[in-house]
Amino acid sequence: MKRVYNFSAGPAILPEAVLQEAASEMLDYQGTGMSVMEMSHRSKVFIQIIEEAEKDLRKLIGIPDNYKVLFLQGGATTQFSMVPMNLMKHKKADFIITGNWAQKAYEEASKYGQANVIASSEDKMFSYIPNLKDLPISEDADYVHIVENNTIYGTRFYELPDTKGKTLVSDASSCFLSEPIDITKYGLIFAGAQKNVGPAGTVIVIIREDLITKDYPEYTPIMLRYDIQAENKSMYNTPPTYGIYLCGKVFKWLLNLGGLEAIQKINIEKANILYDYLDQSKMFFGTVEKKSRSLMNVTFKSTSPELDDKFIKEAKANGFDNLKGYRTVGGMRASIYNAMPIEGIKALVSFMDKFEKENLG
Ligand SMILES: *Cc1c(COP(=O)(O)O)cnc(C)c1O
Repeated sequence: MKRVYNFSAGPAILPEAVLQEAASEMLDYQGTGMSVMEMSHRSKVFIQIIEEAEKDLRKLIGIPDNYKVLFLQGGATTQFSMVPMNLMKHKKADFIITGNWAQKAYEEASKYGQANVIASSEDKMFSYIPNLKDLPISEDADYVHIVENNTIYGTRFYELPDTKGKTLVSDASSCFLSEPIDITKYGLIFAGAQKNVGPAGTVIVIIREDLITKDYPEYTPIMLRYDIQAENKSMYNTPPTYGIYLCGKVFKWLLNLGGLEAIQKINIEKANILYDYLDQSKMFFGTVEKKSRSLMNVTFKSTSPELDDKFIKEAKANGFDNLKGYRTVGGMRASIYNAMPIEGIKALVSFMDKFEKENLG
């Protein structure tokens, strides 16, 4: 068996220890004689799995009691509809456009009310986070939507916008659990699991209780109502059971590692190794403004698209997979989520250095 260094943006690398544990429990989960995939979601055993996952997540982040944790389906994209359907009471929401995912969320919300762009970094190919100082927040905005880490472009928010008292909604899909967060600053956070937390098919939503109401458009699908999902503890219908089980294992892996402060330290160290190399390279360079650099998705280019292609191909042949940039952006992207070991970054940097020496005129 040979595992590669997998730099995929998502579905992405998972901790090897978690995969091994899941493999050992595949045929017989703790004496039940069946895998977690095969058991009833109403069984005692599964209820314990989901409750423990929630408990561990609450401990990991420090989620206050007035926030609900939901394990839902439909990926982050379904939240682009679920959030406006449930939260747009005055039919107005503000968006900070920092890339494709923010744009998509904005377009979807426009179907349910007035969505306003209050800041954008489109003028420079989303290579920075706009100035957040004095944003033109709409007076009756129901919420302000941000994408906290921009998976495609490789930027992130280092501070949160001043929403002037309005509810902050964050799409944290690609940075969730990469560092400590203060939940009280948000009304709602959602994250598709397949970036940093678990397998595709699960999306985690953390929502302040007062935002869960029965005031939503009549046509709202029952599956897309936070009140229904909260009242039924994410089990109105069959939840993504195996995904929740694996997320739970990742939460335990993080707790054992020392929690979010510990993983943040490692993530900063990892990203610095790669950015420091890029900053001194004569062939490769980072593509976003330095003060907006993501710790999770490192985007870079070489001196030509032809050389980019050659690099991606040779990297793959040497065990560094999925380094190709997003299809509309080009260049390279190394997604270095929690589960990417520091050895993977060091090995990548020495490979890049070697490639540079061999290919520099
Ligand atoms: C991947 C991603 C999405 C889309 O996630 P799906 O689960 O495929 O719907 C949305 N937002 C961000 C920030 C992402 O990285």
